Amino acid sequence: MAHGSPTSLQRLTDQAESRAAQTGPIAVHDEVNPCPLCGDPLYAWIALPAAGGEASVGMPLSALPDEERILDRCESCGVAIEHGRKIDLLAEWEAVCRAGDGGGREIAVPNRASLQAAIGVEGWAAIGLSPGSLLFTPDSLRRLAALNGQPIEQMRWPRWGRTQGWMLQTLLNGLTFHPNFAREVQAGRLRRGSGRGAFRFYADAVVTILGAPLIALVSFPLELLGAIFKRGGEITARTSKAT
Ligand SMILES: [Zn+2]
Repeated sequence: MAHGSPTSLQRLTDQAESRAAQTGPIAVHDEVNPCPLCGDPLYAWIALPAAGGEASVGMPLSALPDEERILDRCESCGVAIEHGRKIDLLAEWEAVCRAGDGGGREIAVPNRASLQAAIGVEGWAAIGLSPGSLLFTPDSLRRLAALNGQPIEQMRWPRWGRTQGWMLQTLLNGLTFHPNFAREVQAGRLRRGSGRGAFRFYADAVVTILGAPLIALVSFPLELLGAIFKRGGEITARTSKAT
């Protein structure tokens, strides 16, 4: 049985076409900003829905109640930034590093060029966990360090620790209604009556509790392989000496 007459279908198509003609195909991107690290143009990457909006499965929500957030990415150095955000390179450097042994600096940040980020995209569990405003790849982290006069001496991709948790949570995000369910409940930001209702809360609790041990059988070797091939979810790095 057909749903809707050809006339109403045609009307909807016409409405969509006239809306597209008014706004353009990517209404949010009326200007092209240069990458603060390499100067090449930034392009729209993903949109994070507003808090309270009906997000798709596994997608993290914007902290802002009424606005969706657009993240741009640089296709040369790979850094990702919220669209239109002004970047202070010194402040970003101070945000990502801390004093290490022997006067150098130590850095530990999520890796946007990782296997887990490629699997999760909007549902990547570490997408909101980068200190500062930049979401790094190895190349973009090297550029930020060099621009601040402290070249990176050593870079690693840890095989254990929080990166394993991120891979597990990223895979679980593909199965749950609420993104990062376990972390949000643990932090007290998500309760039975909040979010998307009691049914979805309990469904996510069951999936997380029963599914996590099974998913871990897949996520653990995946992340291990990623780290071995320098596609781990976390980058740790060290500079030689503070200048
Ligand atoms: Zn760049």
